[in-house]
Amino acid sequence: MFNLIYEFKLKPTSAQIAIFGEWLEQCRRVYNYALCERKDWVNSRKCQINACSIKSEYIIPANQPLPTYNSQAVALTQAKKKIPALKRVHSQVLQQTLKRLQLAFEGMWKNGRGFPRYKKTGQMRSFVFPQLGVNSIQGNQVKLPSIGLVRFIISRPIPDDAVIKQARIVRRASGWYVQLTLQWKIDIPEISPSGTSLGIDVGLMHFAATSNGKTFPNPRPFKRLESKLKSLQKKVSSKRFGSNNRKKAQAKVSRLHERIANTRKNYHWELAHNLCDWVDMIFAENLNLKGLARGMLAKSCLDAGWGQFLDILSQCCFKRGVYFQKVDAKGTSQTCPKCLKETGKKKLSKRVHKCQHCGYTCDRDVAAAQVVEIRGLEAVGHTVVKLSEGKGNIPEDVKLCLPTKKESPALL
Ligand SMILES: [Zn+2]
Repeated sequence: MFNLIYEFKLKPTSAQIAIFGEWLEQCRRVYNYALCERKDWVNSRKCQINACSIKSEYIIPANQPLPTYNSQAVALTQAKKKIPALKRVHSQVLQQTLKRLQLAFEGMWKNGRGFPRYKKTGQMRSFVFPQLGVNSIQGNQVKLPSIGLVRFIISRPIPDDAVIKQARIVRRASGWYVQLTLQWKIDIPEISPSGTSLGIDVGLMHFAATSNGKTFPNPRPFKRLESKLKSLQKKVSSKRFGSNNRKKAQAKVSRLHERIANTRKNYHWELAHNLCDWVDMIFAENLNLKGLARGMLAKSCLDAGWGQFLDILSQCCFKRGVYFQKVDAKGTSQTCPKCLKETGKKKLSKRVHKCQHCGYTCDRDVAAAQVVEIRGLEAVGHTVVKLSEGKGNIPEDVKLCLPTKKESPALL
């Protein structure tokens, strides 16, 4: 059993757009209110009991626990009696908003994300129906609880044997979209690590380099469209604040941002499919993206979107029946892939790997990719230690185990 998300563009009527907009706003208010409650609790715990009451006060009793999803959901039901606007929104949609806040907190506790922030007007961009009724898809319309039938563009067929678990309505610069989570009751054969292998290194000079010596250029969609973006942003700031013309100009900027994101995503999928064409196993670095993005390379790093690429690559491998694994990225550029000896730190400007022990010379990123491949093969239990002479790519003893025929599930 597994889930896939299919996204379709909606064609809502103007009345439906108004409802979507109002619901998003109500969700935003609920989110902010619930966040405020939790923030107050946290702040009161930070404050000393005898604190000066001008600055801060210990108002919340000491025995009151931190508001949880459950307690806030109960409070929401109570609040509905007083606030009629909340009643107009489907109750499960509001509950999902509270759940989202809960997830944001869990992300902070477990994954070290930042403290959840308030959402300004227009910053809430999606809401979720956690379940849909029977026959939720009727031709080119999707039936949403308490909103009714909404037309959408069937850009890809929806499989008959899939169950639609939930629907998320998303607002983007180019319009409204629905993301359907489809569930299949199908056993996917587990992909075993065998056959030919490939290591991947992502970098700044090249977007990616592979262990068989290929390098892929950096698309840098942002750089290319940056000048366009700049001129559009200038236009925005020249318009009077709050005017219609300013809104129009702002919409153009948002559209361009969306286009940049789409271009990038397309490139990532294309590259991922290309890599899957070649081999049966792919190994990639387990990057510390947060640390990288914080450094000096922040802009081009986030622009390149490595995190998204690695996510897409793992999805693509899953679809195509290619084994995928991340390996430790520590010091991949400081090890010689041929003799496996330490070569010391390289400056970013140094583009070539030249080993002082064995004399092995190749592109720096390619060498790193080869180290990744070797580590990956070791991790899955292949006895690979060194690169074969002159090949500089796929180690010989691995090449000997014949590539298995890829069996991708028919439905994909
Ligand atoms: Zn060496």
